[in-house]
Amino acid sequence: MAFELPKLTYSMDALSPVIDKLTMEFHYGKHHQAYVTNLNNLVQGTKFENASLETIIKEADGGIFNNGAQVWNHTFYFTSFKPGGGGEPSGNLAKQIKEDFGSFAELKEKFSKAAITIFGSGWAWLIKKDNGKLEIVQENNAGNPLKNGAIPILTCDVWEHAYYLGYQNRRPDYVNGFWNILDWSVIDTRY
Ligand code: MN
Repeated sequence: MAFELPKLTYSMDALSPVIDKLTMEFHYGKHHQAYVTNLNNLVQGTKFENASLETIIKEADGGIFNNGAQVWNHTFYFTSFKPGGGGEPSGNLAKQIKEDFGSFAELKEKFSKAAITIFGSGWAWLIKKDNGKLEIVQENNAGNPLKNGAIPILTCDVWEHAYYLGYQNRRPDYVNGFWNILDWSVIDTRY
């Protein structure tokens, strides 16, 4: 079964001004789509032809890993947003954030710092470990915490294609805005 670009529940201009329409059209419509197309071409005739993205992330390397992980990462990223989002987590996730970081404000500051300081292209992640503890990690390029057995809760794409059309070099402004479009009703269920 071929991999597909996921449908989004919001329109290309719905996250503006945090993520503007042109950025969405390129990031989702061109970059995300290209990873899907590349992956479909690369897996043909390999043992990953009918594999899940999770299997590809755990077992593949090279181009199949890079494109497979980027498909998963972008789907996870784009489905974390809603117009007029923001606010704070609730339930068990909120409780664990308090336990591991002291407060949501502290998590926000540490996660933002991780996203802003990734050198080059990559992803900041909030992950859940085996013991239920939360941790913030930085991954370069297509890196995905599933590869190390952790459960992804939240991610921020800091490849320049994620923000450069709207923010140019101002990555911190993009990361600050990111918190205002998060859909915690979706993110809460990942913990
Ligand atoms: Mn991206």
